[in-house]
Amino acid sequence: MQKLAPYSAHSEHGRGRQYTEDSPSYRSEYQRDRDRIVHSVAFRRLEYKTQVFVNHEGDLFRTRLTHSIEVAQIARSIARELDLNEDLTEAISLAHDLGHTPFGHSGQDTLNVCMKDYGGFEHNLQSLRVVDVLEQRYAEFQGINLTFETREGILKHCSKKNAAELGDVGERFLQGRQPGLEAQLANLADSIAYNNHDVDDGLRGGLITVEQLREIRLFAIQCETVSKIYPQLDTRRMINETVRRMINYLVVDLIETSRARLLDSGVSSIDEVRNYPEPILMHSDAVAKESLELKRFLQRNLYEHYRVLRMSKKAGRVISKMFHAFMEDYRILPTQYHEFSALLSDHSESGLARVVADYIAGMTDRFAINEYRRLFEPGELT
Ligand code: MG
Repeated sequence: MQKLAPYSAHSEHGRGRQYTEDSPSYRSEYQRDRDRIVHSVAFRRLEYKTQVFVNHEGDLFRTRLTHSIEVAQIARSIARELDLNEDLTEAISLAHDLGHTPFGHSGQDTLNVCMKDYGGFEHNLQSLRVVDVLEQRYAEFQGINLTFETREGILKHCSKKNAAELGDVGERFLQGRQPGLEAQLANLADSIAYNNHDVDDGLRGGLITVEQLREIRLFAIQCETVSKIYPQLDTRRMINETVRRMINYLVVDLIETSRARLLDSGVSSIDEVRNYPEPILMHSDAVAKESLELKRFLQRNLYEHYRVLRMSKKAGRVISKMFHAFMEDYRILPTQYHEFSALLSDHSESGLARVVADYIAGMTDRFAINEYRRLFEPGELT
């Protein structure tokens, strides 16, 4: 059994599930959450959803699945070191991207524009919707009925308007409270994972260069150390060695800064963590600044690289055209979605829009491309 700090989440004192169930035998409540997430359809789809590169661009790039596993790996190491609940941390990390659309952020932005008269679209909220409603696995309830603490961690951000409709998990956004430490940790591990793997993928894809990155402090320091110790190393291994040291540097800083802040804060329960005026887990100021510099670099040079932008724009058009085609005549949706739309919405326009958004958001990159062909290319089979 893991030793847990008093301020961590203790599964026996959790706020429970929406539908009451018997406690699991031989597993904790959070292990059960993790297992339900791993067995969900949405989790399997992450394998074929883009992080930055579209799924068919290459076999070595991160997908949302490998990203989520990397987030869980980083977050669990830190959780164990800080005596936080490792099972809960893992469950939140593996579930945090379940609501992502195909084609990364451009997919979500386009769907949000399409949905602007129907309540909008937000991937965080969609992740919660996946586990609360859309997964259909159990006889007794819709969704996978996760614990409050896992759901609290999945809902990273939320507008006040949406929060007001969400009940218990929405409350903290209205009251300006913090989530538990495991949720704070999964969020920070998410940034550590994507900043570093996007450097690796960006270099591998030839969109950014080592020379450019030498201008960025976080990369430069580690890269210089590696070059000093191993002057003969080939470029690929030099990059790997540098990236692994960057991750370690960020993880160590997060552990040490957070440990000191936990002590200073004097919190001794998860409720005190929730009521604390700001998040307790964080990087030191100096490292937070270095991370931000890297994040801005990636924004300018990778996410806004013309080749990434071209793909994003293309993806946006695919999603927007599909959305409008389904809205124009819902009968071209697969039959099971007709039943859904009748069930959820009485065919009101916004109810239908939500069904269409759920359908599109659930698509993998390649399914979306094929569905687009089936809808718009006369020579394709339907
Ligand atoms: Mg993520």
